[in-house]
Amino acid sequence: MIKKWIQKRISNNPSFEMVMFWGILGSCWLTTLVSAIYSLFEHISTTAVVGCFLASLFFFVLGAIAFITKKYRASYFVMCFGLCTFIVSPLFFYFGGFHCGMLLYCLASILICALYSQFRGRVVLVSYAVILYLTLFAYAWKHPELSTQVPPDYTIRDIMTSFVILSGLMFSIVSYLLKAYYQERRTKDELIQKLDFFSTHDPLTSLHNRRYFIDYLKEKILSNPREFFILMYDVDHFKKLNDKYGHLFGDKVLARIGEIANAFCLVPGEIAVRYGGEEFIQVIVATDLERAFAKAEAFRNSVSSISLDEEPSAKVHISGGLIDCSKPEYTSHDKMLSSVDALLYAAKTSGRNKILHQE
Ligand code: GH3
Ligand code: MG
Ligand code: MG
Repeated sequence: MIKKWIQKRISNNPSFEMVMFWGILGSCWLTTLVSAIYSLFEHISTTAVVGCFLASLFFFVLGAIAFITKKYRASYFVMCFGLCTFIVSPLFFYFGGFHCGMLLYCLASILICALYSQFRGRVVLVSYAVILYLTLFAYAWKHPELSTQVPPDYTIRDIMTSFVILSGLMFSIVSYLLKAYYQERRTKDELIQKLDFFSTHDPLTSLHNRRYFIDYLKEKILSNPREFFILMYDVDHFKKLNDKYGHLFGDKVLARIGEIANAFCLVPGEIAVRYGGEEFIQVIVATDLERAFAKAEAFRNSVSSISLDEEPSAKVHISGGLIDCSKPEYTSHDKMLSSVDALLYAAKTSGRNKILHQE
């Protein structure tokens, strides 16, 4: 039961607030505890020892409250406020004012305030900490007798220890932020790549889509139509195939046609397109109509040999029209499309399973 209760509070995918809270709270708790033990052995002052122990107790209790309530944002705010007001400020005087590592802790606590996740709260915390420390410094400067006098060898040890601890803390925070940033950027890049792909491709067959083809036709073929041929084809009686073997089987047939169509794009400039539904386009590059027609026929025969394991007896045929884009009458892409569509229609009405072309 206790295990379940703990598991419920530890997320597999912790939020930024949660990671920062536990990371900083843990470091602060450990630092204050170590400082307390350290100052106990160094015989600095009883007040400093008690102060450090109270500080570590503060972090421990705050951690327990956050763990139970799961209110990490509010806990982080309290942690920052408590850290600046009740911990760093008194410790500044107890450990020697300007003559110790506490200046570093003042700066580190400002960094911790600056990591508060909400902008308004961040402004409040950072402004508060800066004003508090400036007041503190002015006061310590005016009243040097208030700061504990520490021996020089202690000062250098304290400064070096503080420096190492705070460098580690800053390194961890920055590393975590960079990791989160790069992870998010990678996810975003992958998403953009996917969006980019699906804006020009059909998800079922992975062939180019109609939009891509129209742009290709206008920008590439129309400007230099020499050696370009368009084969528009449509699966024969596809509705019957769907009705007999199921829509899923129909999808597999379309995907298989997509594979064959892609494999037929061998020459630069040739592309395979799913024009819509069970209608496709193959852009063929050839020196003359005869060769283009031979390619189109080879393609039609390949589709006719499709046999899927699920239904080996199912027959797949296509009918198509083929046009030579370099003909002078094709002054616009619309004219090409209506002409090839008319040929496809003629192939359908004259018996199917064939490709017709212009004389
Ligand atoms: P025709 O020989 O005259 O082309 O007859 P047909 O049955 O192939 O043509 P029709 O236009 O009557 O039917 C086309 C069918 O293609 C209807 C539609 O449900 C099916 N279809 C369109 N897109 C998809 C798809 O993505 N998956 C599947 N499984 N079927 C599709
Ligand atoms: Mg059809
Ligand atoms: Mg159709």
